[in-house]
Amino acid sequence: MGEWFETIADVEATPEEADHLGAEVLSWLVEQGIVMAEPTDCILGNRGHRPGPNYAAATVEPWDDLHEFATNGFRVVTGQSVFYSMGVVQVACPHCKAVVVDDQDQDSWSDFSPVIDEWYMGGSGVHACRHCGKPVGINEWGWSPPWGFGYLGFEFWNWPTLDPGFVAAVSYRLGHRTVRPYGKL
Ligand SMILES: [Zn+2]
Repeated sequence: MGEWFETIADVEATPEEADHLGAEVLSWLVEQGIVMAEPTDCILGNRGHRPGPNYAAATVEPWDDLHEFATNGFRVVTGQSVFYSMGVVQVACPHCKAVVVDDQDQDSWSDFSPVIDEWYMGGSGVHACRHCGKPVGINEWGWSPPWGFGYLGFEFWNWPTLDPGFVAAVSYRLGHRTVRPYGKL
C-alpha cells in the first residue's frame, strides 16, 4: 500500500503573499469543517491537519474510513517548491504542441532541466521553445500529468479525489490559477 497525494498548487502567488494566503485558506477550511484546526502528526512524519467532520464536501466520493487512516492529513506548503506529479511525464509547447520532454527519452529531460534549475535559482523560468522559438513561462508548458512551480500549495494525503467545484472554490479564494499534481509514493 503506497501513500497517495493530491496537491492544489497556486502557480501565481508571490513569495510575499504565500504565507498570508495559505493561512487564510487554512482558516476557511477549518471553518467549513473540511479539516481540523489542531495540527497533528498525520503525514509521514510531518504535521498536518486531519480531515474534519465535513471533509466529504471537498471530495467527489468520500470514504467512510478516511478518518481512521494513519496518514490522512492536509498541509499548507509555502516557500519555493516544485509541486510534482508522479508517473510518466510529458511536457508540450502550448504554442506549437511539440513535445519537449518525454520520460522515454532521457536526453529530453537533460535538455529541459536547466529551465527548472534556472527558475529555482531565482530566474524567470521563461524559455524559448526550441521548435517554434516562442517564449514559454515555466507554468505555461503543457505538463502531463500536471506539475506546478510556485510558492504556495495545499497537499491532501490519501484523500479521495478532490471535487473540481471545491478546487475551483479554493482557486477563487486565492484569486489565482491553480494546477493539481498528484501521485503515489
Ligand atoms: Zn513551440
